[in-house]
Amino acid sequence: DPRLAGIASAIRVIPDFPKAGIMFQDITTLLLDVKAFRDTIDLFVDRYKDKGISVVAGIEARGFIFGPPIALAIGAKFVPLRKPKKLPGEVISEEYSLEYGTDKIEMHVGAVQAGERALIVDDLIATGGTLNAAIRLLERVGVEVHECACLMELPELKGRDRLGDKPLFVLVQSS
Ligand code: 5GP
Repeated sequence: DPRLAGIASAIRVIPDFPKAGIMFQDITTLLLDVKAFRDTIDLFVDRYKDKGISVVAGIEARGFIFGPPIALAIGAKFVPLRKPKKLPGEVISEEYSLEYGTDKIEMHVGAVQAGERALIVDDLIATGGTLNAAIRLLERVGVEVHECACLMELPELKGRDRLGDKPLFVLVQSS
């Protein structure tokens, strides 16, 4: 698709952020480019409309930027999956491992019902730990995960392999 080159070039790379050796993929520059941002949402919407998806689950923080416009356009509700101690109501949580230690994501009890069909949205998959935890969280409450969608994948980290048989769709791959 000719739109993908414009999307890829609108993502800025910041070396050594947040620490030495990391090449951080900065999607805030894509948000400044009205065509690239719109093309990004359109590509996801074309793929996910009319698929019976009733929930878009967005991962904090950048899944909160891309998830809601997709949700509105396909007629699904938006559910935030948040870092610990951010959601005010009763939550269920799933832990995942980081380079050093562990982290958690949380979802409000009652936000989704068993039998619903969900799309999980984030900006980027690196090791796949975050998306793996999001899949577990939704499946625990009986939700069918249709697919995970990210703008970008870092293929050398093989995060895709941590998603089991869940499909992952990405617009752009980077080294
Ligand atoms: P993973 O769990 O796959 O190792 O890491 C993915 C999570 O870390 C995502 O929520 C993503 O937003 C964040 N992340 C890791 N590296 C980058 C990066 O280079 N750029 C951006 N925008 N997010 C990153």
